[in-house]
Amino acid sequence: MKPSHDVLIVGAGAAGLFCAGLAAQMGLRVALLDHSDKLAEKIRISGGGRCNFTNRDLDLSAPDRHFFGRNPRFARSALSRYTPADFMDLLRRHGVGFHEKHKGQMFCDDNAQAVIKVLQQECKGGPQGGSVQWFQPCRLQQLIHHAGQEAAYEAHTEAGVLHVPSVVVATGGLSIPATGATGLGYDLAQQFGLALEPTRPGLVPLTMAATAWTDYAERSGVSFPARVRYGTGRGAVSFEDDVLLTHKGLSGPAILQISNAWLPGQPLEIDPFPDTSVADWLLHLKATGRSSLAQALAERLPQRLVPLWLSQDERVHKPLAECPDRFIREQAEHLQTWKVNPAGTLGYAKAEVTLGGVSTQALSQQTLESRQPGLYFIGEVVDITGWLGGYNFQWAWASAHACAQALAAKAGKA
Ligand SMILES: Cc1cc2nc3c(=O)[nH]c(=O)nc-3n(C[C@H](O)[C@H](O)[C@H](O)COP(=O)(O)OP(=O)(O)OC[C@H]3O[C@@H](n4cnc5c(N)ncnc54)[C@H](O)[C@@H]3O)c2cc1C
Repeated sequence: MKPSHDVLIVGAGAAGLFCAGLAAQMGLRVALLDHSDKLAEKIRISGGGRCNFTNRDLDLSAPDRHFFGRNPRFARSALSRYTPADFMDLLRRHGVGFHEKHKGQMFCDDNAQAVIKVLQQECKGGPQGGSVQWFQPCRLQQLIHHAGQEAAYEAHTEAGVLHVPSVVVATGGLSIPATGATGLGYDLAQQFGLALEPTRPGLVPLTMAATAWTDYAERSGVSFPARVRYGTGRGAVSFEDDVLLTHKGLSGPAILQISNAWLPGQPLEIDPFPDTSVADWLLHLKATGRSSLAQALAERLPQRLVPLWLSQDERVHKPLAECPDRFIREQAEHLQTWKVNPAGTLGYAKAEVTLGGVSTQALSQQTLESRQPGLYFIGEVVDITGWLGGYNFQWAWASAHACAQALAAKAGKA
């Protein structure tokens, strides 16, 4: 059977769209299929509608530093070959304005639709005669492999049967089902005997047992900068950013970040004075001023939190000058290690990403091709998850780029 296309890409989200455009520009005939009637819905809602499309703080000497997964180093090859600067150049070429907001996070000046438009325009092909044939909304019903044939994959879709030598799975993760998220990518991996790492919601708010949270729930909406720490020893992970109290538990960037590392049953430690030794600060106040511990805290913490974090000891209302150093040190230690035991997460309904997925052991880090010849996996479906702040899109762009280059080389077009 003659191939109908050079490649079928399943999933027209961030990774699939980008891969389709690059492959077409290198001369490949691409079939791009997505079951959703909305185009790239996750890009549209990302970054509060402005798409935090990359992060310029990505460490090019160790790009895996900002990623989670069983083997984050797997991501190095693709991330070092397609960098945040490359994607920013692409946006510049299309006249899209953008700016840095916070900690290297790059956002569109206008809205996320601008990024979707760029990716659509890139899919128009190039001088080498490639093209993207779009099948959307269209379901993939079955994928059959015929070893030894030129068009080894027979894809049964709602629009008919396609015959292709290569299939790229870019179906993303399970978070926010309303955006079109499904587990098809994991099912395809299983169909071809490829290993999966267990999936769970990531970049997600954490919940607390209602009984332990009543006082904090009343203060829902209060936020404060903190260092949040999880784990011990060499496995410890910490993030410094804002923590937000919610009715059900904790959110805010520091909590979303740590949720990628957190495992049920384990405590988190929150230090609301990330840059300060509270003991030194209070002892200095003792020597130089007349304030009490309660007054001192009210200057550094949101007022509504002070009563919750002060101990019942009446000395907290006395001038620090009248308190023994030992007492001050104990209080300082207590204030810098607020231990919380989350009960769970708000799940895929509120998670920005899915942790786990297709095992990197089943994939080539250069090409993203799996052990099943001609079957590739890119983007979030792979067991690579970025930090909050544009790293997940950067992985989508970089893995799509590595895959497109490999497809072109295979087709003799590179
Ligand atoms: C609310 C929210 C905000 C986010 N903000 C940011 C941000 O600002 N910066 C950042 O870096 N990351 C952000 N992310 C994460 C980012 O959106 C994803 O990591 C990224 O979109 C992954 O790209 P992908 O192409 O792998 O998957 P997706 O972009 O999710 O695309 C997957 C595509 O596959 C299609 N598909 C799924 N199942 C099937 C099926 N059965 N058949 C056919 N097609 C299928 C879907 O319809 C979708 O079009 C955010 C996520 C959410 C939910």
